[in-house]
Amino acid sequence: MKKYKRIVIKVGTKVITAKDRTLDKGRLRELVGQISCIKSNGMDVILVTSGAIGTGMGLLGIKKRPAELVELQATAAIGQSHLMHFYSEYFHSKGYRVGQILLTREDFADPKRSGNIRSTIATLLKHKAVPIINENDTVATDEIKFGDNDQLACLVTELCGADKLILLTDVDGLLDEKRRVVSVIRKITPGILKLSRSGECDLGSGGMMTKLLSAQKAVRSGVECVIANGKSKDVLIKILAGECVGSTFKVVARSKCGDINK
Ligand code: GLU
Repeated sequence: MKKYKRIVIKVGTKVITAKDRTLDKGRLRELVGQISCIKSNGMDVILVTSGAIGTGMGLLGIKKRPAELVELQATAAIGQSHLMHFYSEYFHSKGYRVGQILLTREDFADPKRSGNIRSTIATLLKHKAVPIINENDTVATDEIKFGDNDQLACLVTELCGADKLILLTDVDGLLDEKRRVVSVIRKITPGILKLSRSGECDLGSGGMMTKLLSAQKAVRSGVECVIANGKSKDVLIKILAGECVGSTFKVVARSKCGDINK
């Protein structure tokens, strides 16, 4: 397994929810197993998870994402505790504790708060616990919310000095016009950005565009990023074993590629 010091893994709503919007416990357990394996290989893992609203909807039997903010916030509150219960149980069965961290955009803008986030994460990692982060959906209003966890994962990557970012979704990676996976991206060109078919989905709120923007930001700060299918078996292990899985956004020295990030 390729060694990284610290990996941020973001799990999208569709990866861990079943068709009826209930939590896909089998998938969650499988992902926890892979993360535990990575941790036992000496790497720090910070998890950014979506799914609070999605699983909250499942628990409440709601089919359509609530339009009213207060309904959305209550749905997230119900889903978040359910989600954490199972993360906690599954990690515990592998010998790891978890620590929940709920954040808003404002927290990153404030140096004191962001310093607190950094040191709490570092201390959790020191205790071999898994920091599990989500947006604080119950307090986030339009002005302060990230809107999607892809951006949040990218900010966490920078804040914690991680050296790898993995964004897990329900597609195999960035797909070209013929629906083939673009395996390696050395330069994020307008053509690459055009391949994203961003749009609202009824469970989470990110899309391929938010993932591309996060990947772009990550490589800009020198961190390699992979977008891959969180539903495919052993996906995290395969990525770290160097197998060609998903879309990898390489960090390329500026002198070699010109204006990679313009
Ligand atoms: N924070 C939202 C949730 O847990 C997800 C946001 C996103 O999909 O990126 O449901």
